[in-house]
Amino acid sequence: MCGIIGYVGSKDATPILQDGLRRLEYRGYDSAGVAVLNASGKLDVVKREGKVATLSQALCDNPIFGNIGIGHTRWATHGEPSDLNSHPHLSQNEKFVVVHNGIIENYQEIKEKLEGLGFVFVSETDTEVIAHLLEHYYNGDLLDVVAKVAGELTGAYALGIISADNPDVLATVKKDSPLIVGVLDGENIIASDIPAVLPYTNKVHYMNDGEIAFLSKEGVAFYDLNKNPLEKQPETIGWDAGDSEKGEYPTFMLKEMFEQSLVIEKTIQSALSKEAKETIDNIDIAKFKRIIIVGCGSAYNAGMVGKYVLERLCRVNVEIDLASEFIYKNPIVDETTLVVLISQSGETADTLKAMKMAKDLGATTLSIVNVRGSAIARGTDHLILTEAGLEIAVATTKAFSSQLVVLYVLAIRFAQKLGKMSDGEAESLIEEIKTLPQKVGEVLENYNDFIKEYAQKAAEHKNIFFIGRNVDFAISLEGSLKLKEISYIHSEAYAGGELKHGPIALVDEDSLVVATSCTPALYDKLESGYMQVMARGANVFFVGNTKDVQNSEKLTAVRLPQINEFFSPSLSVVAFQLLSYHVAATKDVNIDMPRNLAKSVTVE
Ligand code: GLU
Repeated sequence: MCGIIGYVGSKDATPILQDGLRRLEYRGYDSAGVAVLNASGKLDVVKREGKVATLSQALCDNPIFGNIGIGHTRWATHGEPSDLNSHPHLSQNEKFVVVHNGIIENYQEIKEKLEGLGFVFVSETDTEVIAHLLEHYYNGDLLDVVAKVAGELTGAYALGIISADNPDVLATVKKDSPLIVGVLDGENIIASDIPAVLPYTNKVHYMNDGEIAFLSKEGVAFYDLNKNPLEKQPETIGWDAGDSEKGEYPTFMLKEMFEQSLVIEKTIQSALSKEAKETIDNIDIAKFKRIIIVGCGSAYNAGMVGKYVLERLCRVNVEIDLASEFIYKNPIVDETTLVVLISQSGETADTLKAMKMAKDLGATTLSIVNVRGSAIARGTDHLILTEAGLEIAVATTKAFSSQLVVLYVLAIRFAQKLGKMSDGEAESLIEEIKTLPQKVGEVLENYNDFIKEYAQKAAEHKNIFFIGRNVDFAISLEGSLKLKEISYIHSEAYAGGELKHGPIALVDEDSLVVATSCTPALYDKLESGYMQVMARGANVFFVGNTKDVQNSEKLTAVRLPQINEFFSPSLSVVAFQLLSYHVAATKDVNIDMPRNLAKSVTVE
């Protein structure tokens, strides 16, 4: 994770770096720091444990000036969050300064070598070896030393480098961690992600692994690791700079929840577009013996919904795997497998590895991602984009909802291609999907205040369980994840039928059970489950549309609009998001940046 930013131009770099760090803070917030090359040719560094606001205060007390600089907001992997472990890191002679996103796997070996040569380390980070290595190998040729150092590192890195001897150049190189170069006139920027460059430019280069870029006021030059020049064309980003502001909302998460009707509508259009149709037409679904859906966190939960819908509509064997498990289990994958990779950022490290592995094993790969230029979008054989726009809150809402929509459309189109569904049936299901934006809007409008009030009571529980069956179970996984991520209340999701096989032992009067039912044939079974927990003292929050459940002292119900059960997760999840959000809001927590978490998990 972590966010890196770098600027070279004629302006004062520090405010631009701080602004970039503020926009990248969702990627990590253990510490923040900036370095600039000052007018006397010295590298000045200010860095602090804590959030960007703490750094900004330090910069007020101790301002630094320069027209070239780098910044970093950290999600610590090696060494605790502290001032010393914060980035940027200086080389021993203070001639190089580095910011790093990723993990250097052979840092211990390099550290021992450098210590043997007399280098003294001041931090516990893996990153510091890079600064000293640059000093060690530098022979007056910056390109040469960057290529050489990159060649010695194993693991993942996106680096921003400034050398006091090369005052006009901001250098960068990357492998397995994301990095973009924003192109401006008379100034240029590097960043881990789009929000940091969007206020300045919508023209960006996506850096590939093994590429070096040298930015100056005059322009950007690209090289491979053998120092050969490369030609790259910038791409244009369609997102709006306004997306990176909260507007009238107190948090990004609330803003993004209320954007869901709109992004679902856009994603439906995208999934039904000519481009998506061609993509689906090009996938010879009949040749696959099975589909494996791979993702992490909420993307995995979206995949779980997808598994139920795809299997029921297509009658194809669909498996679902966590990317971090898939890559280390020697998966059974070959040419007869379609691997569907889901990731908001398109840079999730585990999912990216899973993609590479699936391709190596001969599978056909299809990605569902939100960023067109991302590594996963570019690396897969087929791509269907979600149209969630920029999502800043660490806990995903609108990107998740967009992923569901793509999965529904895929399931219908594949079912048609496989002859499991007539064109008429398919079109009537598509028409039903098109009602989602309005129905999602109804849930938000009708239940925001109601759930806000209920959240006061819900927040008093020590354990919150989610139960459901079939797609209701799949979406319960996401409800439970959302709740624990932002409210820090212990929560688990279980298939309703599993309660009596263990989890019910934990249920008592301190428990709340969120019971979801949008699959009519299974309502009675679910009711038995929630009656059993009520009999043991638990409170129940019912979310569904299968029955008019009456409120009582121990039971509170949210009535969702009617919709075909396959698409009901898109409505249930909105009720879960509201519950999670308002429960978290009763506590003194940072909802957009939950502790220990970061968005775009670009380290393994
Ligand atoms: N591994 C580096 C550290 O722990 C960088 C982590 C990051 O990507 O934020 O400092």
